[in-house]
Amino acid sequence: MPHTRIAIVGAGFAGLGAAIRLRQEGIDDFVVFEKNGDVGGTWWDNSYPGCRCDVPSHLYSFSFALNPEWSETYSPQPEIWAYLRHTAERFGVLPHIRLNTQVSDASWDAAAQQWRLETPDGLHTADVLIGGNGALSEPATPDLPGLDRFQGPAFHSARWDSSQELAGKRVAVIGTGASAIQIVPNIQPDVAQLHVFQRTPPWVPPHSGRPITKAEHIVYRRVPGAQRFVRNFVYWTREMLAYGMTKNPRALKLVRRVATRHMQSQVKDPALRKKITPQYTPGCKRLLPSNDYYPALTKENVEVVTDGIAEIKERSIVTVDGTEREIDVLVMATGFHVTDNPMMEHIRGTDGRSLLEQWRTSGAEAYLGTTVPNFPNLFVLAGPNTGIGHTSLVFMIEAQIDYVLDALRTMRTRQAATVEVRREPFEAYNVDVQARMQKTVWNTGGCASWYLDDQGRNTTLWPDYTWKFRRATRRFDPENYEFGSPVAPVAEPRERVEVGS
Ligand code: NAP
Repeated sequence: MPHTRIAIVGAGFAGLGAAIRLRQEGIDDFVVFEKNGDVGGTWWDNSYPGCRCDVPSHLYSFSFALNPEWSETYSPQPEIWAYLRHTAERFGVLPHIRLNTQVSDASWDAAAQQWRLETPDGLHTADVLIGGNGALSEPATPDLPGLDRFQGPAFHSARWDSSQELAGKRVAVIGTGASAIQIVPNIQPDVAQLHVFQRTPPWVPPHSGRPITKAEHIVYRRVPGAQRFVRNFVYWTREMLAYGMTKNPRALKLVRRVATRHMQSQVKDPALRKKITPQYTPGCKRLLPSNDYYPALTKENVEVVTDGIAEIKERSIVTVDGTEREIDVLVMATGFHVTDNPMMEHIRGTDGRSLLEQWRTSGAEAYLGTTVPNFPNLFVLAGPNTGIGHTSLVFMIEAQIDYVLDALRTMRTRQAATVEVRREPFEAYNVDVQARMQKTVWNTGGCASWYLDDQGRNTTLWPDYTWKFRRATRRFDPENYEFGSPVAPVAEPRERVEVGS
């Protein structure tokens, strides 16, 4: 059976970042399993029109691979994907990656002290498992009566079907989240009619994105430290938002004022304004900066529908007020399975129970978002309560990777075969996270969002400044872990996988 010291699931920012940093540590005995046909994770999955990051590129990139060539301050998806592909190549991790290889199950084998991974190529074992499969990887399609009866093209925003020509068509977009507000202005000029089905309006402040000038490119290429200075500046200005979101939601009044003025300047029709004015504190759901979303809604071929969807028919959508709208194409910009990510069902720990079963009553919990009791040698990247609503997730992922590398070093120096977080620090940590969460805008802002699980518990976001997470993960803390000694040598020699160059 093929065996590596480490197996990584996913080749997005998290998995690639871990792979690169392992190589930098001189560790080559690892493999990365990626379900898609190429690297990039969410930046490979999402290719809908207008897809771009709403965090500035100087910050939304690896600290060890700044890119002086970003064309815009907020990069479009093809550029972010190309950056990830290029970075994977540059740091020599591509030979480690098995594409089109979905890990369908991962179980801890207590006797062998290994993870057993089921892949389409058969079983693979690894001493350590790093989960880089991401929170926003499983599209959620709405549970609408009659959806399967629809006769025209219907697809999720993260599975965009570019073979479908939208020009001249009647299109419905369900949802007004981060994906929808980018899709709507980008398809509006081409389609005959666009129905935007809105359940909850978003707060939409102005967008500050702009092309990066030639002069800036020259400076970034030639002046060491210039881009890092800008990155730090962006980081600290973004961190100011964390004060309002996590400490004092009243401070978000300014965001409300700016976003309201933005809407009033772009939307003149009072009836439309009324429909799209949110009734919750800004930041409770993700803020969605855009300069072209509201103008698109005011166009003659666009209708914002706020009546709930009662039923989908072969060629139409019927709303609860009985109105039937004929459509040709249905776009579901309806988000992802986050707190109910199906992968949780397929990772099994010491007692054979899955993460889903372990988390059924408590909700998703990990120590520092990374380690879980009963799941030895498992490190989850972008795990529970590591998401953020105001800055770059890459910052959080890199902090976790540093922590994992230090854990691996500690295992080596202690000659430990296993490492598992102790229950007391794990519980104390999660009590503290939830206590801090109570003050945040996500819990007090009066909205429902994908940040909360079905018990209303926020298991997704980090409830504080991100530098505090960085500080907490800077060094591995062995006192909070149990270490296991190696088992007796295995009788049969294991087949080693040739990876890496
Ligand atoms: P989302 O934020 O979860 O938005 C989903 C939308 O679909 C919401 O408007 C939701 O309404 C609506 N919806 C869901 N089920 C529905 C139903 N059954 N009937 C009617 N409406 C329904 O998903 P997303 O837009 O794909 O974004 C998810 C996350 O991905 C973002 O929060 C962000 O973290 C990330 N993202 C980032 C970017 C970027 O950087 N620019 C772009 C895209 C995505 P309710 O609000 O009422 O639930």
